[in-house]
Amino acid sequence: MKDKYPFELIGLPYQYSALEPYIDTETVKLHHNKHLKKYVDNLNEILADYPIYHTWSLEKLILNNSALPPTIQIGVKNNAGGIYNHNLYFHIMKPAMQQNNLTGNLKEAIIKSFDSLENFYTSFENAALKVFGSGYAWLIVDKDKELKIVTSANQDVPLNVFHVLLIDVWEHAYYLKYKNRRDEYIINWYNIIDWDKSEKNYDIAINYLNTTKIN
Ligand code: MN
Repeated sequence: MKDKYPFELIGLPYQYSALEPYIDTETVKLHHNKHLKKYVDNLNEILADYPIYHTWSLEKLILNNSALPPTIQIGVKNNAGGIYNHNLYFHIMKPAMQQNNLTGNLKEAIIKSFDSLENFYTSFENAALKVFGSGYAWLIVDKDKELKIVTSANQDVPLNVFHVLLIDVWEHAYYLKYKNRRDEYIINWYNIIDWDKSEKNYDIAINYLNTTKIN
């Protein structure tokens, strides 16, 4: 996968209709092909005049945002964040019929951190409901290997933590089908989480933290 300028729209690992009935075809299509594409196009447009950043990865553009010229910092932050967040979102979902159950290390860690799966789902829903305006709710691993639920505004990316999964609660992610019923969208979304990929993200984080000294 190409991870530097010019950035490309990464395809979905399923069809636009694959998340029905939890997310409707039209929403997935617009979300991927219009909203995400717009972030890709915007970022390329912003960087077009700055060849010295054409070797920077998406992650580097996000992490080292403050090293960029001040005039493009906000644009790069919003659009690089938009690409990162959406790629993660689209890739930790899968068709409900293929859903794999939460098992293994991640299940154990969630129960340890939130007492039960049910409590995790409730806490995550509450966090996602509390995002004021546009943003995301995340399950992350912090540098002490603790699982935490955090939220972010706009296209901000939580930094210095490891991302396990996230839900997009921008209205464009659910409004066509759910209108103002964000709670219903969140609860239905639980049916299409790709737990295998989420657990992979978790395992990568823990392995990294077990083998790397972080200050
Ligand atoms: Mn979105």
